[in-house]
Amino acid sequence: MSCLTTVISDFGGVLTSPLIGSFAAVQDTTGIPMESLGRAIGRIEKREGKHPLYELELGRVPEVEFLAKLADELETELGHRPELHRFREIYFEALQPNEPIISLMAELKEDGYRMGMLTNNIREWEPLWRSMLPVDEIFELVVDSAFVGLRKPDPAIYELTLERLGVAAGECVFLDDIELNCAAARELGMEAVHYRDNEQAIPELRELLLPG
Ligand SMILES: [Mg+2]
Repeated sequence: MSCLTTVISDFGGVLTSPLIGSFAAVQDTTGIPMESLGRAIGRIEKREGKHPLYELELGRVPEVEFLAKLADELETELGHRPELHRFREIYFEALQPNEPIISLMAELKEDGYRMGMLTNNIREWEPLWRSMLPVDEIFELVVDSAFVGLRKPDPAIYELTLERLGVAAGECVFLDDIELNCAAARELGMEAVHYRDNEQAIPELRELLLPG
C-alpha cells in the first residue's frame, strides 16, 4: 500500500514544451545569441554579487528593471542597444502547453491525489503562464517564487509548500525538469521524478501513482 497522497509539479519545461525552444525564438527574433545573453547575465552577477535572474524570480526586481539592466550589459558586447521589451511576448509565443502531462495531472487529481504546483517564475508573467492551462481546476495550491520570495532549490520553498498543503514530505511526489530541484526534494524526503521527456516521465509517474 503506497502512502503517496500528493503530487507537486514544476511549471516551465514540464507542463510546457521545453524552454530551450523559447530561448531559441528569442535568439531568432532579437538576433541576440543565447551565449551573449548568458555572458551578460554572468557579468552582472559577478559585478553585483547576485544572480539577476534569481533576483527576478525572487520578486525583488521588476521585469522592466531586469530587462533594462540586461540591455545595458548587452550594449557593450553587441555595440548597439538591443530591443528586449518584447522578450516575454516572444518567449510565450514559442511556448506550448504539454498536453499529455497536463492530462495526466488532471487524471491524478480525478484519482484523488492532492495537487500542488511549485514554480520558479516571474511575477509579471503570471497571467501569461496561467492562460496556458486550467491551473485552478487541477492544482489546489500554487507556490510561485516571485510571490513568496524564495526559489527552488532552497529547502524553505519546499517546506512552505508542504506546510500550505498540510502534508508530510514522505507523502509527496515532486516533478521537475531540473535535477538539482529534484535532489533538493529528495533531500527533504519526497519522492522525485526528474522530467526529461513524456516518454520517460509519464510511465514513471504512472508506475508510482497509478499502478495496476
Ligand atoms: Mg522547469
